[in-house]
Amino acid sequence: MFKMAVLSGDGIGPEVVNEGVKLLKALDRELNLDLVFEEALIGGIAVDKYGLPLPNETLDIVLNSDAVLLGAVGGPKWDNIEVSKRPEQALLALRKNLGVFANIRPVKSMKPLLSASPIKSEIVDGVDLIILRELTGGIYFGEPKYRDGEKAIDTLVYHRYEIERIADIAFNLSLSRRKKVTSVDKANILESSRLWREVVNEKAKEYPQVTVEHLYVDNCAMQLIRRPRDFDVVLTENMFGDILSDEAGAILGSLGMLPSASIGEKYALYEPIHGSAPDIAGKGIANPLATILTIALFLRYSLKRETLARIVEDSVEEVLKEGYHTPDINIEGEVVNTTKMGDLVVSKVLSKLEDDRK
Ligand code: NAD
Repeated sequence: MFKMAVLSGDGIGPEVVNEGVKLLKALDRELNLDLVFEEALIGGIAVDKYGLPLPNETLDIVLNSDAVLLGAVGGPKWDNIEVSKRPEQALLALRKNLGVFANIRPVKSMKPLLSASPIKSEIVDGVDLIILRELTGGIYFGEPKYRDGEKAIDTLVYHRYEIERIADIAFNLSLSRRKKVTSVDKANILESSRLWREVVNEKAKEYPQVTVEHLYVDNCAMQLIRRPRDFDVVLTENMFGDILSDEAGAILGSLGMLPSASIGEKYALYEPIHGSAPDIAGKGIANPLATILTIALFLRYSLKRETLARIVEDSVEEVLKEGYHTPDINIEGEVVNTTKMGDLVVSKVLSKLEDDRK
């Protein structure tokens, strides 16, 4: 039995998560994956019911699960409440509680979407990279962190073990890909970056098949736009990764297409990159493909079903190639709503499974 905690959250969260769960249930029926789903509240909806964005009831369910599927949290209704109760605080607390230190964000171009990218098609075509972001250390978590009158302090701390374990994941990911790791730092200025570079170089000796390059973060930001195809696995600390992954994601042209997986020693958290999109929530037009591609990551990293993960990814691309798309994607073809898009992908996946059996 594999227990999945389902935290739909706010805004379009429930709409897109529905489509992800629909696909998983269809796969479970077809392939006996033995999945069990348990729903819990997170974000604004949890603040309304329990006064807290990550209530203990939810934490219990999550800590009792094998993987978590999260929609999105937040919205204007909760924008002005005290900081500790803001829905977004639940995300930081959830990641920390689960110990999911490795955030994997794949950025892969799809031919039908090339025209939707803000970057020239010939530069984007063939992009296939992963931003691997350290998620539970660095300046977002370092202490001390405080305000003293006109002065504000944040602290950037990294320990050797935190760098070693994320570097191991980077090298291992690259082994099943193009065997190249680009480590990003600011080693010309920051002491934590000098340690980062030192540890990555030491770890690299254990993986002689992998090519390692080091880029300063400012240069990396530029190269991601100039030559995104050259990157395979981009390994970065928390804040640099936060910024670079949004930049890399923007290359594809729609926030509604970007999945993520966050992995730790015991738990795994799967979520689309986008937020709760209050501007379109409740209209049934949200793009569920980021969540569906997130399900593909769940199949790949939690269930170790690589072939099945690829079938889901290929199905998404084929549905788009047939011209079906939600309104956020500006391409030719037929505009469909959230549930129709989910149905199209499910039937494409099932027909591919059927073909494989023949
Ligand atoms: P957002 O990602 O919610 O939306 C940005 C724009 O992209 C909006 O125009 C939205 O309509 C569009 N968009 C996003 N996802 C889409 C999808 N699947 N289909 C179609 N269009 C989509 O970012 P925002 O507007 O900056 O934030 C809205 C709320 O979400 C805020 O409360 C913010 O704090 C929260 N947020 C949550 C997360 C998360 O839960 N992981 C991430 C980012 C923002």
